[in-house]
Amino acid sequence: MKIPAKGLGKDELFEKLATFRAHDMPWRDGRTFAYVYDPGPEAESVIHRAYTMYLGENALDPTVFPSTLVLENDVVSIAAAHLGGDDDVAGSFTSGGTESILLAVKTARDHAREARGIREPEILVPETAHAAFHKAAHYLDMKLVSVPVDPATFKADVTAMREAIGPNTILLVGSAVSYAHGVVDPIRELGALALEKNLLLHVDACIGGFLLPYFRRLGAPVPDFDFRVPGVTSISMDFHKYAFAAKGASVLLHKNKDLRRHQFYACASWSGYTVINSTVQSTKSAGPLAACWAVLHHFGDEGYLEIARSMLAATRKIVDGIENIPGLRLLARPEMNLVAFTSDEVSVFHVIDEMKARGWFVQPQLGFGSSKENIHLSLNRRALDLADDLLRDLGECVAIARKLPPPGGDLSALRGALASLDLTKLDPPMLGHILREAMAATGIAGASLPDRMAAVSEVLNHLPPPLRERLLVEYMNGLFQSRVDGA
Ligand SMILES: *Cc1c(COP(=O)(O)O)cnc(C)c1O
Repeated sequence: MKIPAKGLGKDELFEKLATFRAHDMPWRDGRTFAYVYDPGPEAESVIHRAYTMYLGENALDPTVFPSTLVLENDVVSIAAAHLGGDDDVAGSFTSGGTESILLAVKTARDHAREARGIREPEILVPETAHAAFHKAAHYLDMKLVSVPVDPATFKADVTAMREAIGPNTILLVGSAVSYAHGVVDPIRELGALALEKNLLLHVDACIGGFLLPYFRRLGAPVPDFDFRVPGVTSISMDFHKYAFAAKGASVLLHKNKDLRRHQFYACASWSGYTVINSTVQSTKSAGPLAACWAVLHHFGDEGYLEIARSMLAATRKIVDGIENIPGLRLLARPEMNLVAFTSDEVSVFHVIDEMKARGWFVQPQLGFGSSKENIHLSLNRRALDLADDLLRDLGECVAIARKLPPPGGDLSALRGALASLDLTKLDPPMLGHILREAMAATGIAGASLPDRMAAVSEVLNHLPPPLRERLLVEYMNGLFQSRVDGA
């Protein structure tokens, strides 16, 4: 593909885009239970208008675009107030949870370097903490220590975390809620531990921070997790999840500006404009920020409370319904609207495929640590209306899955071959070979994905996590493919 010699007409161009999109999940129907947070048609039009209004403004420099400073201070203040903060709390608007977490880890690193002279910092996370912490440690070349959680509740085991603290530990992490199981870690106990050991404590409230306060106001038993808990030094919260902002909207809050200082970066050592960045991105559209401000003001507190009421009712109904389907069991008692359930009788990967054939997207989560492979639902604004249909189809799909042979066939040969592999000595040709074998065995050809993914998930589920990572990198490295001379 090359830039077309002559520009296309608007109609033709948009037709092409619409054609590409035809194969994507039609998420606005509410049947996609991960990745998307549908604000509904009215809010969506508000978001579009605010986003495009600010699309071309550059939030890189608030002295040139002072309105971006006003918008950011508003949005950060709203977040601080929502999470029990005072006027000392200082934050930044970021592009997403991953960026907020990356910056929280960088802040902790630079703070520990200055305050404690630590050169080889380590962060301590429960094994349910989001992958973004591993990514941050990887990007920043820091050590991450992952601590097993309580296998009954999937919450952080504070005693185990205490025992894992070493001289180079700088940061503890807790989630409110964890993505995989939708539970709140014991933040009070973690806060006390952080204070006792003079460590920072980051609360990952990326997905839970916005909704949990509403669930609490509606009577749900929500444990304390925010700045009111002594010892909490930073919190991340995504607006592009249950605040329904356009993607590219999150916030990182620090307890005070003395901490936030370590987040910022300045460079005057080149011949161009002096760079002073609060976040990873430098040039950045103010569209996501303006759209976030707009959606918060569109729904208002009352609007969000009503949405939360519906999602809480949906959660109760769906959790009860799942418990009543023979063959299914919840992994944990969800404390928000994220539900993880599994089966000891049928393959959950078959259930996922059968649900997909009926137009539902429910998310596979592979086994890890004490968490068996399972199905994840991030319940949405429409879930209450769809709950009966969802539960009926789920029950029927479990019944169908009972009659199917195990996905991926007999995997004993694969297991045998893997047992003799030295994971530290895998090179790209070897990985390519394993990948081709696995793809042949599971029916994936080239860049096209099969309708049924159960065999793929089953094979991945049997691989040790480091091999899952290496193989998926190989796969993605092949999937994104330039065709300079082709169309
Ligand atoms: C979504 C999520 C993240 C990562 O956020 P992105 O916006 O996808 O980068 C981090 N932590 C938790 C708990 C999340 O749910």
